[in-house]
Amino acid sequence: PHAAENQGSAAPADILHEVFGYEQFRGAQAAIVDHVVGGGDALVLMPTGGGKSLCYQIPAIARQRAGHGVSIVVSPLIALMHDQVGALHEAGVSAAFLNSTLDWAQTQDVERRMLNGEITLLYAAPERVNTPRFLQQLDTLKQRGKLSLFAIDEAHCVSQWGHDFRPEYRSLTVLHERYAGVPRIALTATADDLTRADIVERLQLEEARQFVSSFDRPNIRYTIVEKKDATTQLLRFIQREHEGEAGVVYCQSRKRVEDTAVALQDAGINALPYHAGLDAAVRQKHQDRFLREEGIVMCATIAFGMGIDKPDVRFVGHLDMPKNIEGYYQETGRAGRDGAPADAWMTYGLQDVVNQRRMIDESPAGEEFKQVMRGKLDALLSLAEASDCRRVRLLDYFGEASTPCGNCDNCITPPQVWDGTDAARKLLSTIYRVNQHSGISFGAGHIMDILRGKPTEKVKQFGHESISTFGLGAEFSEVQLRGVLRQLIATGALAVNSEAFNTLQLTDGSRAVLKGETTVRLRESVSSPAERKPRREK
Ligand code: ADP
Ligand code: ZN
Repeated sequence: PHAAENQGSAAPADILHEVFGYEQFRGAQAAIVDHVVGGGDALVLMPTGGGKSLCYQIPAIARQRAGHGVSIVVSPLIALMHDQVGALHEAGVSAAFLNSTLDWAQTQDVERRMLNGEITLLYAAPERVNTPRFLQQLDTLKQRGKLSLFAIDEAHCVSQWGHDFRPEYRSLTVLHERYAGVPRIALTATADDLTRADIVERLQLEEARQFVSSFDRPNIRYTIVEKKDATTQLLRFIQREHEGEAGVVYCQSRKRVEDTAVALQDAGINALPYHAGLDAAVRQKHQDRFLREEGIVMCATIAFGMGIDKPDVRFVGHLDMPKNIEGYYQETGRAGRDGAPADAWMTYGLQDVVNQRRMIDESPAGEEFKQVMRGKLDALLSLAEASDCRRVRLLDYFGEASTPCGNCDNCITPPQVWDGTDAARKLLSTIYRVNQHSGISFGAGHIMDILRGKPTEKVKQFGHESISTFGLGAEFSEVQLRGVLRQLIATGALAVNSEAFNTLQLTDGSRAVLKGETTVRLRESVSSPAERKPRREK
């Protein structure tokens, strides 16, 4: 009877009220808690903010009170461990962590208390779990009948298809193999079918019951606008809809992070940069300010965000497109955890498609892996190109059927759709003819100039005024043609050769479009901020 919670009731509902001060379980929590308290294995898929922590914390407390001893929580992030342990202490629960921030004396103290069964929840990094020392301690606990439960947080880290693969997670199978009979609960906020299957296989959770919650975040409004001048678009978006509010803006490169932060600061917005190239102390300071002060806009690479629990983030912006829908969902999911209205806003353009395809092509990964990555990118591209409900598309990706939401850009302002088939055929045949004519390929700008009949220096230099499609597309605006090119590239009907100045080349998929077998439907660009309806009057 060292820890205070050893004395209380072991009934989950009592723990919910007495320890956490909550009235009721949410969604699937009650069912999950019951299942795990009873010693069952579980795989929990629940969106960010859904309340995953209680799903293992309450069973850990209940089982401790029933005499089962210590629960081990595997968590990938030190910051997250600290937050959780701090919150548990405040609630009077005996919790501790083992990680690199502890000195030797502190480590020994935690280990001693753990072996005595005094700790209810012990948080440990996955790499620690695999050390001989830690495993020996678990052996001892097991022998004493005091090894109660394993909780594996952020379980998608075990999958290379997930967005945050951590090889150390692979060896967590040891928990199952060495401590058969100790219940396990794995939790994640992101998992498409592929990742989910991978988690089950890699963690040997075939027998575990799966609890899949809805992934809908109804308070998040999804908006994807065509990229023109991304920084200016972002600035207008913030000034118009989120003046003085906290937000995160994701950028692909460190330089872009820095530039964006400066641009926002120049416009009087309280913006800070965050990326892995900054000093650890600076990063920590910026993160602390973001959490503590009001209305900070964090400009960041994806290095920022995991495990950061700030409930009132009012918007998440993407200046560059993420790699896939899981990444997009995870990052946008950091908005509006408090349930109040929030925005997920992204700019998207041809260059994003080109960059993402190139990153896959140039990655050292094997061909099978690249194919999967391309498939995932395609799914995100079709979300970006969609002219129907974004939420329906997003949820569909996670295997969930839904109806148009009324709270995304396409639902609020249905985009005009135009038939770009003719433009697409003319573009492709121009590319074909130009490549034939000159024996080399050219980039998007030049091809559009030819089709629109612009006699630029370059057009004259190569004699491309003589190409039979010269001027045949004069009726199309550059924006329209760019949209068509983007969609052709997005759907694989056109390839960009990143090793030769991003020049355009036909693919096997071009033929169907050229022959008129495929129609190309495009959303009319309606992205200028003035045309959007403001969310609320200020
Ligand atoms: P997740 O890990 O799934 O992102 P958390 O476990 O951090 O979510 O929970 C999100 C928020 O919801 C936290 O502030 C938590 O205290 C709160 N919460 C969770 N379950 C309940 C509940 N049953 N009643 C009230 N608040 C809850
Ligand atoms: Zn919608």
